[in-house]
Amino acid sequence: MKVLPNKQYAVIGMGRFGTSVAQSLSKLGFDVLAIDSNQQKVEDVSAWVTHAVTADSTDEDALRSLGLRNFDVVVVAIGADIQASILTTLILKEFGVPQLIVKAQSELHGKVLTKIGADKVVFPERDMGMRVAHHLISPNILEYIELSKDHSIVEIKVPSFAVGKNLKQLDIRAKYKCNVLAIKTGNELNISPLAEDVIRTDDVLVIVGKTEHLSELELDYA
Ligand code: ATP
Ligand code: ATP
Ligand code: CA
Repeated sequence: MKVLPNKQYAVIGMGRFGTSVAQSLSKLGFDVLAIDSNQQKVEDVSAWVTHAVTADSTDEDALRSLGLRNFDVVVVAIGADIQASILTTLILKEFGVPQLIVKAQSELHGKVLTKIGADKVVFPERDMGMRVAHHLISPNILEYIELSKDHSIVEIKVPSFAVGKNLKQLDIRAKYKCNVLAIKTGNELNISPLAEDVIRTDDVLVIVGKTEHLSELELDYA
């Protein structure tokens, strides 16, 4: 098995999101330091993370004495208390933490986090809401990922009209200005498919394009 470098991970804020990040890292076999200002939350997670401590992350001295300076990746998962989220991020940035991932509550909160140097800002509720909405348009839409303001990737289960046709016949590039990146057949993945490749029942297409173009395709393929 490939041995991953043993990075040091810390997660601050044991709400639902932070808990899920810490628990997943722990299940994957990584050491995780979990921090929350609420002692009960810390007790709740202490059974399955390497270390769990009660601390206020807006207290610079507390973070310093926990050795947060030496961590490779810190996830700040404080939502409701935006001020605490921003102060924590600022302190960790000044510590020089190489990878700082911060959960944002709103677009504006996210902008502030980016400005003060968060390496990655995540919007779990917004992103999940978007995915659910796309899945509601059609159960054929299995996954939806926003790449940028204007571009996205969708994973779409092929509708019956596409079965038995090849990409040339479906003419997705010309019709929708979108590109099929891959065709999934069960566990097999056909990367960069050819115009002659034929779509089979239950295939999944992974398609990239401008969001407005993909929307048209989603409606036709729903
Ligand atoms: P969820 O992921 O459940 O949606 P949320 O975004 O609603 O969470 P909160 O519940 O506001 O976020 O905060 C998550 C956790 O962060 C809480 O357990 C809270 O105790 C903790 N927290 C808030 N402020 C601090 C702080 N200054 N230091 C450490 N932990 C904090
Ligand atoms: P183009 O100039 O549009 O690439 P082409 O003359 O090079 O077309 P092919 O590569 O054989 O011809 O593709 C023919 C048509 O098949 C394309 O116009 C496009 O609509 C469709 N097609 C082929 N591959 C893909 C793909 N990966 N994603 C979307 N459409 C594709
Ligand atoms: Ca929340």
